[in-house]
Amino acid sequence: MADLIKPIFVNISIIVSLTFIANLIYPFNAKGGISLKQKLFFGLISSIAAIGCMYYPIDGFRTTVFDLRTVPLIVATLYAGLIPGTMCSLVIIFTRLSIGGEYAWVGVLITVVALAIGFAYSRMFNEALKKWKPGLVAGFLFFLLYVLILYIHVDFLPVRFYFIYFFSFYTLYFLLILLIDRLIRINLQLEETIYLGKLSVLGQMAASIAHEIRNPLTTVRGLIQFLSCHTKDDQLKQHAPLIIDELDRSNKIISDYLSLVRPSEMKLRNVDLKEVVEDITHLLSPLAVFNSVIIKPELSKQHLVKADDHQLKQCLINLIKNGIEASEGGGTISIRDEVNTVDTVDLIIEDTGKGMTKEEVQKVGLPFYTTKTKGTGLGTMITFRLIRNMKGSISYNSTPEKGTSVIVRLPVATNGEKE
Ligand code: ADP
Ligand code: MG
Repeated sequence: MADLIKPIFVNISIIVSLTFIANLIYPFNAKGGISLKQKLFFGLISSIAAIGCMYYPIDGFRTTVFDLRTVPLIVATLYAGLIPGTMCSLVIIFTRLSIGGEYAWVGVLITVVALAIGFAYSRMFNEALKKWKPGLVAGFLFFLLYVLILYIHVDFLPVRFYFIYFFSFYTLYFLLILLIDRLIRINLQLEETIYLGKLSVLGQMAASIAHEIRNPLTTVRGLIQFLSCHTKDDQLKQHAPLIIDELDRSNKIISDYLSLVRPSEMKLRNVDLKEVVEDITHLLSPLAVFNSVIIKPELSKQHLVKADDHQLKQCLINLIKNGIEASEGGGTISIRDEVNTVDTVDLIIEDTGKGMTKEEVQKVGLPFYTTKTKGTGLGTMITFRLIRNMKGSISYNSTPEKGTSVIVRLPVATNGEKE
């Protein structure tokens, strides 16, 4: 037994430590796509992990070798797709063939099966809010096929072996999925902490400036109103409404800014998505018309989602405004729904604007990231946080010069009644 435990621990240590190293160099994140450079890097790291495991096999039955090399292969493919998966598979196949033995090709077959399963579940895995569910299905399928291949080609091995091997395989496999998920969350929290640090200074400044400015503004507004009613000066009478309007506008800017830095409390209710989208379309249509943009709400039916309607509206306004601002010289913004899983619904906001490169997509949502001269770089940051608090998620697909689609995934209300 002890002779089995030792290599298992070595395999686990190799894979876990390489996962941490990968995260140090390219912090894992959940939003946007993974760039080609990152994919190649993840391919390299998973290949090193797989070779490391192969050098410390758990056990050999005749000329077969068993180790946990398929774990980094499946996990890298699930998270980052075919490129790192193929790199890792080729390295495994090459190494296995160079070790030789009559069962080398069984190893090749199992590697190809692992790659195929990882790739088949990769999309579902990345779209899922709870990653362990598709992870479990993919892992189980791999287990079935693995046992089948061994049974057909190698003979039935001692039960003790199956137990030890698959127990360590699954422990490591789930540990890794949980670990990567945790790392993604920690990375997000870190970004947010930095942001909140900046925001709290900003918030204090904003509050004091707002106070200092609002008081004289109110006095001036009152005086202008008073003077314009009691004067015989035509010019003052004529211009007073404009002055008052401008003062009110300044006041509104200050209030908006204050509400931004002092987020309100979230109240989750069952909200009709179609109604929210229609309200927002109505609200934003003057801005859209002004920019020659057409907003097309194309929701196929009513969806009840668990959300805070006020905050959801704020999020959609931010996202649609970005779409309008990206469509210089006109365009279309379509808002569709799509149902992929039983417990979530996707709202897709697609614009025909200037789009973004992969690198730019990675930066969306970072505090103060903006490419606009009058931008604040806070809109998407706040939207990401609010949607996450509603247990939803946001992802971006964008092509430069073609447009952007933002996918807002929201949890469906469990008791199907509108509140
Ligand atoms: P702001 O709108 O103040 O710049 P945001 O956080 O809303 O701040 O957006 C950050 C940046 O992300 C924008 O400056 C823009 O470069 C980019 N961006 C966001 N949405 C889109 C989009 N739909 N199309 C193109 N670029 C976008
Ligand atoms: Mg914006």
